[in-house]
Amino acid sequence: MSENGVRLLPLDDDSWRLEAYLRRGGYEAARKALTSMAPKDVVAEVCQAVIRGRGGAGFPAGMKWSFVPQGGAGPRYLCVNADEGEPGTFKDRLVLRRAPHALLEGMVITAFAVGIRTAFIYVRGEYALVSGRLEEAVAEARSAGYLGPRVLGTDFGLDVIVHHGAGAYICGEETALLESLEGRRGQPRVKPPFPASVGLFRSPTVINNVETLAAIPQILAHGAGWFLGRGVAKDGGTRLFGVSGAVRRPGIYELAVGTPLRQVIEVHAGGPPEGRSIKAVVPGGLSAPVLKADEIDVPMDFDSLARSGSMLGSAGIIVIPDGTPMLDVLHVTARFYAHESCGKCTPCRIGTSWILKAVRRLRRSGGSPADLDLILRLAEGIRGRTLCPFGDGAAMPIRAIVTKFRDELERAVAR
Ligand code: SF4
Repeated sequence: MSENGVRLLPLDDDSWRLEAYLRRGGYEAARKALTSMAPKDVVAEVCQAVIRGRGGAGFPAGMKWSFVPQGGAGPRYLCVNADEGEPGTFKDRLVLRRAPHALLEGMVITAFAVGIRTAFIYVRGEYALVSGRLEEAVAEARSAGYLGPRVLGTDFGLDVIVHHGAGAYICGEETALLESLEGRRGQPRVKPPFPASVGLFRSPTVINNVETLAAIPQILAHGAGWFLGRGVAKDGGTRLFGVSGAVRRPGIYELAVGTPLRQVIEVHAGGPPEGRSIKAVVPGGLSAPVLKADEIDVPMDFDSLARSGSMLGSAGIIVIPDGTPMLDVLHVTARFYAHESCGKCTPCRIGTSWILKAVRRLRRSGGSPADLDLILRLAEGIRGRTLCPFGDGAAMPIRAIVTKFRDELERAVAR
């Protein structure tokens, strides 16, 4: 766990209340930014901290902010991506439930740094309980002067609007989120232009994940060097690692970026239940290629996971135990992507549904090992050829399951 007092997820029962947040020094980082720093210095501090996007893509947040053109008369917007839908990922839900004011304070700091006066929080439709708490937190912050026309008594004002999605996974893709927020069907836009220059209502827009923004106050409160020193050289801070599947203590673990995957699973989450062993691990949400049991001695940071052929993504770790048929894992994965493809571009729309058909053939015993080659060809036909990262997110895990567990899958088909 991160040391007490700088924990993103506090343990006290009333942690989500403003009063509890203030007891922990809440909104002091925003006060420091608004009353003693220039916006460009806030951006510089966050750039130096190298906080990489916690939603999955891992783009440095400070750099993202710096792309927003300054000057000009029109509005700029901040959109918080709280559309947490990646299978195996449930960390933002906890931030919203237990630390909504950390998110709001991060939003105040971000908006001040980039010159934004209106912010939206796009919350996954299924998160009804957390959404109620979040709206209460917004009301508390507004009535106490931490949001509204004069934040902390300064000339800076920020309005926050909570918006509910309707449960489509693709709305977690940032441009699909913008389309949905504007009242249209949630489908990705062609990029460029990128949202930093043409975003919500065609205005410059910053889009950040919940956990990313909730960590921003730590950077302002303790400094970029402190934050960076908690992680690894190009990936600062702590992360909320979600562990699910075959472990004794599933849950969220707040640990330094770079903590070895094996340590997260075996020490913090207690390892597999008695008598079971690890067969495979998905390290960063379902889109991350699976690792075999002998591949999990890897630090949990973006660059290390990329070198290992997988990705840190949303840091949602799924532990698959021995005895689990990988054909079932392949089926669940293929079914998810075929169902959630938004259908806008052909390789993804057709490719994911054909992969699912081939996997179903394998399961019905009407298939043959040639279907495994077909699945690989279809996955290659999707990868790098789609409008949005969903295509790669579908192709990579399917390819990894088929190539790493080919022998087992062929044996399953032969039966
Ligand atoms: Fe839609 Fe898939 Fe194309 Fe993304 S890759 S735009 S989800 S069809």
